[in-house]
Parts: sequence; C-alpha cells; structure tokens
Amino acid sequence: MHNAAFRAVGLNYVYLAFDVKPEALEHAVKGLRAVGAAGFNVTIPHKVEVMRFLDELDKSAETTGAVNTVVIEDSLKGYNTDVYGVEEALRDVRIGDYAMIIGAGGAARASGVALTNLGFRKIIVANRTLSKARALAERLRRLGVEVEAVGLGEAGVHAEKCSLIVNATPIGMTPNVDETPLKSSEIPGDAVVLDLVYNPIRTRLLQEAERAGAQAVSGLEVLVYQGARAFKLWTGVEAPVEVMRSEALKALKRWRG
Ligand code: NAP
Repeated sequence: MHNAAFRAVGLNYVYLAFDVKPEALEHAVKGLRAVGAAGFNVTIPHKVEVMRFLDELDKSAETTGAVNTVVIEDSLKGYNTDVYGVEEALRDVRIGDYAMIIGAGGAARASGVALTNLGFRKIIVANRTLSKARALAERLRRLGVEVEAVGLGEAGVHAEKCSLIVNATPIGMTPNVDETPLKSSEIPGDAVVLDLVYNPIRTRLLQEAERAGAQAVSGLEVLVYQGARAFKLWTGVEAPVEVMRSEALKALKRWRG
C-alpha cells in the first residue's frame, strides 16, 4: 500500500516490514534513527512499549495511550493514526445518542477516542473480559463522555439503542469467518456498523448489518486512512488514497489466495 503510494507520487522512499522481538525494540528504534529513516509504524505487541523510547507524543497518542506511527526528525514523535483512520471511515455518519464499541484492546481505545472526537457523548463498551471494558470506560470518561461497560453477552441487548456499532475484536476474522458478535435481529436498521476486521473484507458482522438494513463500513477503510495519515506525516505529501485502497485490496485478495 505504501510502496504503491510512493511510486504513484514519485517519492524515493521504501516501506519495509521487520519482525522485531520485544527485547530488541529499543535497539530497533535507535537503529532506525541512526540510519536516517523518515519514520515507522509499530503494531502488536509494541504499541504501548514503544512510547518509552520516544521524545514526544501528539494528542492522538496521548489520549489513546498507544502509538502506531512514529516520525523521526530532530526528535522522535509518536502518533496514533488509527484514531484518524476511524474518524475518516465514519466522517459521514449521523451522530446519534449512543455508540457501541465491542472490544477493549488497542483498537477499541483508538475507536473510543475517535468516536468522542466525532461528537458521540454516550458510549457503551462491550467486552468479553468485563474488567477490561471497565478500564476502557474509565479512560474514555476522562475525555468527558458518558460510558457504560458491559459484558460481551449483553452487547445484543444494548445494540438496539445505538446509531453506530464498531467491532474492535478479531471475532469473524479469517479463519473464523462464520463468527459474529451480533446477529441481524440485534442491529438497528438505521445504524452504521464498522467492522475493524478487514480479512475477509465482507465479514459475517457486515453481512448481518446489511441484512438488518444498516450501513456496513469495512475495516479496510480504517486501514487505508490510518496509512494515508502516516504517509502525510512522513513525507509531507498528501497520500494518494485511491492508489492505497486498490493496492490494499489487491494484497488482501493475494493473501486469501
Ligand atoms: P487487542 O488489543 O489484542 O484486543 C483484542 C480485543 O478483542 C480484546 O477486547 C479481547 O477481549 C477481544 N477478543 C479477542 N478474541 C476474542 C474472542 N474470541 N471473543 C471475544 N472477544 C475477543 O487487539 P487490537 O489491536 O485491539 O485489535 C482488535 C482487532 O482490530 C483485530 O482484529 C485487528 O486486526 C483489528 N484492527 C484493525 C485495524 C484496521 O486498520 N482496520 C486497526 C487496528 C486493529 P478480552 O479483553 O476479553 O481479551
């Protein structure tokens, strides 16, 4: 996705993936700085730990408590572009009374900050481990929103009052493509449902949403927009979003074989 974008706008950059062990994270960060890299992304399990090795955080990283993008200039600055990715994917949604986030991990945290930025004032966090739902609720309340924490089993009961539902768990991800956190009967027909899972692109949850008459938004949009924001931060150039979307789709199709 990034390499296609660099080619499309004629930038002499390259995006590479490295499998960095937790004990090597500090060396990897220092090494990237030493060789003059423009920046990097981090993913599980480094999104929290990497903050120890950075000089500053922007607001998205500070409020989320996690970093997925680092810009290397005179200092090392951490961002959370997943927040922006969720905001962009949902930029046209109607702001209703309630939104629901299913999950309480890193993606759920970023989603909570994004929904708050979008203007939702009442959020329900539904998670398998209730204590983690409560911890996320506590974090989001500090942003001035009302948050209720419930167990995953109660998601269906609460979903009926929500105009937006975000799945931030791996439920439904390949190979468990028949799994869904909600059935069509539990999804309001006028809701928007965003599934952060993008493999498969049309998850069982999104199919259930469409069956209910709701609007389905794929996690691919979040993937593309978080990448587009990182691209802009590293290069200063506006990202060619269409190129990135079509390359990501191609890669996902290749991946599925
Ligand atoms: P994470 O920090 O490990 O959190 C995982 C969350 O999912 C936790 O709340 C966990 O519940 C829940 N969960 C895991 N397996 C479950 C299961 N079998 N049944 C019910 N709940 C389960 O992971 P994450 O970084 O938040 O990522 C979550 C998902 O979002 C992943 O599928 C990831 O690929 C996707 N994602 C997509 C994008 C995008 O750009 N589209 C960006 C970020 C993440 P417990 O607390 O009970 O363990």
